[in-house]
Amino acid sequence: MEDNNKYNLNEKSKARSTLRVLGPVVLVLGIALIIYGISNMFNGSNAGFIGIPLTFVGSVMTLFGYMGSLARYSASQSVPVAKDVTNYMLDGTKESIGLVAGEISKNLHQTQNQKSSIKYCSACHEELADEARFCDHCGVPLFKKCTKCNKENDIDAIYCQDCGAKLEV
Ligand SMILES: [Zn+2]
Ligand SMILES: [Zn+2]
Repeated sequence: MEDNNKYNLNEKSKARSTLRVLGPVVLVLGIALIIYGISNMFNGSNAGFIGIPLTFVGSVMTLFGYMGSLARYSASQSVPVAKDVTNYMLDGTKESIGLVAGEISKNLHQTQNQKSSIKYCSACHEELADEARFCDHCGVPLFKKCTKCNKENDIDAIYCQDCGAKLEV
C-alpha cells in the first residue's frame, strides 16, 4: 500500500516535470506556427490554424505542470510565515503574559488561602489548624453539635446544615 502510494507520487511528479518541459515547448511551437501561418497566410498555408490549438494545449500543459508546485510553494511559504509571525508575536508577549498570569494566580491563591483556610479561635484568637475540631491552645470546641441530629456544624452556624434545626448559641 505504502509502496503503491510512493509509486503514484513518483508517477505524478514525473508527469508534472514532463508537462513542465513539454508545455513550454508546445506553447512556443504553437506561437511559432501562428507567426509562421500569419506570415505565410497569403501562400495558402494552414500552419496558423494548427498553431492556435497548439498554443492553447501548450499553455494548458504549462499551467498544469507548474500549478501543483505553485500551490505547494505558496502553501509551504505562507503557512510557516504565518506561524513564524504568530510565534514571534507570542514569544514576546508569552513571557510577560506568563509572568502576569503567574503573579495573578499566585495572588489569587494567597487571598483564597487567607480567606478560606486560616481561622482563628474565637476564645483565645490563636491560629487554628485546617480541620481542627478543637482549639489546640485552649480546647474550645470549633463546632456546634446539633441537639436534634448530633451533626457537627461550623462554630458560627445558626441552623443545622443537616436537619435545619436552630442551633443553640
Ligand atoms: Zn483557642
Ligand atoms: Zn441537626
